[in-house]
Amino acid sequence: MTIERQARDADVIVIGGSYAGQSAAMQLARARKRVVVMDAGLRRNRFAASSHGLVGQDGRSPDAIALDGRRQVEAYPNVEWWEDSALRARHGNQGFEVESASGRCFQAATLVIATGVVDELPAIEGLEQRWGKSVFHCPYCHGYELEQGRIGVIAVGPMSLHHAMMLPDWGDVTLFTNQALQPGPDEHQVLIDKGVTIEPQGIKRIVDTATVELQDGRQIALDGIFTVSRTRMASPIAEQLGCVMEEGPMGPYIVTDETKETSVPGVFACGDAARMAGSVSFALGDGAQAGISAHRKLIFA
Ligand SMILES: Cc1cc2nc3c(=O)[nH]c(=O)nc-3n(C[C@H](O)[C@H](O)[C@H](O)COP(=O)(O)OP(=O)(O)OC[C@H]3O[C@@H](n4cnc5c(N)ncnc54)[C@H](O)[C@@H]3O)c2cc1C
Repeated sequence: MTIERQARDADVIVIGGSYAGQSAAMQLARARKRVVVMDAGLRRNRFAASSHGLVGQDGRSPDAIALDGRRQVEAYPNVEWWEDSALRARHGNQGFEVESASGRCFQAATLVIATGVVDELPAIEGLEQRWGKSVFHCPYCHGYELEQGRIGVIAVGPMSLHHAMMLPDWGDVTLFTNQALQPGPDEHQVLIDKGVTIEPQGIKRIVDTATVELQDGRQIALDGIFTVSRTRMASPIAEQLGCVMEEGPMGPYIVTDETKETSVPGVFACGDAARMAGSVSFALGDGAQAGISAHRKLIFA
């Protein structure tokens, strides 16, 4: 592919234009820096109809929140927004070079990586199409709306014990161990004391809104289901640049210091890509920090 090498230089390239990227770009735009935002448009929460827990925006559609954010960022004349995917990033003559899927090449002194993560779901028939609708991973995001009803926890490993111990605060919990979890005697007792029903029979599939059909044919109707997803980086950019990564309980994330700078000087990372577990609120906070730090790097480096 021919790379378009016209002078599209910026002070900062923000890769990923969802909550974290927008928040970083906003700080940089207001500091009158030339900002390029490159965004593939695949937010992690695009499967959910409503977003919860962000003060001022509670219950709004995640699309609407992101669109309002984009409009506000794009209103700054020093921001260029590209609906495009960053394919490659490397150290260049003037800092960093980023090549996009559509063949553009941008150069900037600093980079902000806000590309998020991708959820890899347990391979259970019927689960994927209910993700974000009646199957969730975050009780703080979607537990309250289940109205203290019937909640299923589908185990994928030891992490699922946390779900099973927390979720009784949101409803009546059935833990489906599904051959992935064997609670020890002490854990078993804690679960019983919390009123959790433990179902050892394997799961065949999910039907209706949130009904678990077991291998023996029984069906257990629920109001919602929680499970733990395995996450992976949504883009290879951090690895390409040699950023140090850490393996968290759910998957890898980019290591940053408290200013959100990665192990590679001049490269900042924020949002789900750079923390063990994320939310929209955390992404906005981390993004603001990354944007301010990237600006200061331009002055004080
Ligand atoms: C089903 C579901 C429901 C959720 N509900 C809630 C909720 O109610 N409340 C809450 O606080 N949190 C919720 N979350 C968590 C929330 O979605 C994330 O914490 C949040 O989206 C993280 O923001 P981010 O900006 O870091 O990443 P994302 O929102 O995932 O955005 C990353 C952006 O980077 C882009 N990108 C990736 N790679 C590239 C590339 N190479 N080039 C260019 N762009 C790229 C993506 O396309 C995307 O637009 C939910 C998550 C899921 C899965």
